[in-house]
Amino acid sequence: MSSELQYPQPHTSSYYAASTNLHVDCESLKGAKSTDVCIVGAGFTGISAALHLAERGYGVTVVEANKVGWGASGRNGGQMIGGISGEPRLAAALGESGSKLLWDLRWAGHQIIRERVETYAIDCDLKAGYVDVAIKPRHLRDLEREYRYLEEHKFSFEHTMFSKEKTQELLGTKAYIGALLNMGNGHLHPLNLCLGEAAAAMSLGAKIYERSPAIRIERGNKATVVTHGGSVTADSVILAGNAYHFLEPRLRGNLLPVNSFIVASEPLSAELIEEINPRDLAVCDPNYILTYFRLSGDGRLLFGGRFTYFGSDSEVIKKTLVPRLLKIYPQLSKINFEFGWGGTIGVTVNRVPQMGKLADNIFYSQGYSGHGVNVTHLAGQILSEAVAGTMERFDIFAKINPVTIPGQHLFRNQLVSLGMLYYKFIDSL
Ligand SMILES: Cc1cc2nc3c(=O)[nH]c(=O)nc-3n(C[C@H](O)[C@H](O)[C@H](O)COP(=O)(O)OP(=O)(O)OC[C@H]3O[C@@H](n4cnc5c(N)ncnc54)[C@H](O)[C@@H]3O)c2cc1C
Repeated sequence: MSSELQYPQPHTSSYYAASTNLHVDCESLKGAKSTDVCIVGAGFTGISAALHLAERGYGVTVVEANKVGWGASGRNGGQMIGGISGEPRLAAALGESGSKLLWDLRWAGHQIIRERVETYAIDCDLKAGYVDVAIKPRHLRDLEREYRYLEEHKFSFEHTMFSKEKTQELLGTKAYIGALLNMGNGHLHPLNLCLGEAAAAMSLGAKIYERSPAIRIERGNKATVVTHGGSVTADSVILAGNAYHFLEPRLRGNLLPVNSFIVASEPLSAELIEEINPRDLAVCDPNYILTYFRLSGDGRLLFGGRFTYFGSDSEVIKKTLVPRLLKIYPQLSKINFEFGWGGTIGVTVNRVPQMGKLADNIFYSQGYSGHGVNVTHLAGQILSEAVAGTMERFDIFAKINPVTIPGQHLFRNQLVSLGMLYYKFIDSL
């Protein structure tokens, strides 16, 4: 995303945007407003924080450049995967005594999502079941290590290692040599979740302004977020623009924006579904340039992966991803792919999500490095605690210094292409 991009923009032409079940249409900001907390960005981070704060009784105003869920939150693979990116770095920062805390943080986002879906009756096709697949023996060893970790912590959800033959039965493909099933993870329609959470926050009094890019922040005892049409003066500000953030150069320089793409098929027949994914699991491979897929609520195959491309042409996306998919599922060669779209992920150098402050009353959270569905929900909760003065969990992240990527703003595409080449090489080993 560059600052030259024209705002506002409609939702990208994804399967999700074509299947929303809630109409959220908010006016743009006009005139001077005041509130307790102003949030910039209405993705999962911003909306999750807004809902936590509204539940605590804070006055909340969200300004969104485009539409609620317009960014990565409304475009992603919908895989609800436990764990936080960069866990080894986090574990080192926490020390041995922090192992229980890290375990709790791993699953906290899932808990928040499940509770919200239940409390606010959010219809977002939330399903339990996820499988990590192995392509090479070293992947199997990693999955076995993860299985032992789950066992040590007496993980209460079903978790099972699958042999090569059982994996083939489970997923109807010979592409994998084993798998770890985890019924504590799952999948969902991310845009419907984000819209449902936004509606819940509004029902508790939060104000959301769409088509209202923040163009400046005036700092002081109270901070003022300025848009073209108005301003919001607040005791605290939360910046939640993540990879789409374009205001503060410091935040942009700490993130490498990486593009990921998804195609969605037409709805599959019951027979095909029975053949390729009878347990309706989300699937992810362990490569850095990874492949992930799952079925949608209406039985489409949503298949995602990364490649070096900086555009948004759905035909280019289909032409690149469908052949990859057919290597795994040749039986889908006659199936029509109706959607192809992409989005940008904020990746940090050490993979650890970045939380911090730009001033005493300006907080930010970004850089979940592809693990955002779960961790954004945790981040929203931690940000709401920090605004209320409880810094314990915020400081775990804030104390890990972000690594700045020199020249990121100048050479972004070249850096991303180089990174893709490097990771392709690592994956090939
Ligand atoms: C294709 C794809 C697939 C993915 N798959 C998965 C997955 O399966 N599982 C998983 O866990 N994670 C996945 N992710 C990552 C996950 O989607 C993100 O980590 C998460 O959605 C980030 O949420 P966010 O709210 O921080 O940012 P975003 O959702 O990107 O929201 C940021 C918002 O801020 C707004 N904004 C920015 N600047 C301003 C400004 N100045 N003024 C007003 N508004 C502003 C933007 O318009 C945008 O709406 C995927 C990401 C992509 C792109």
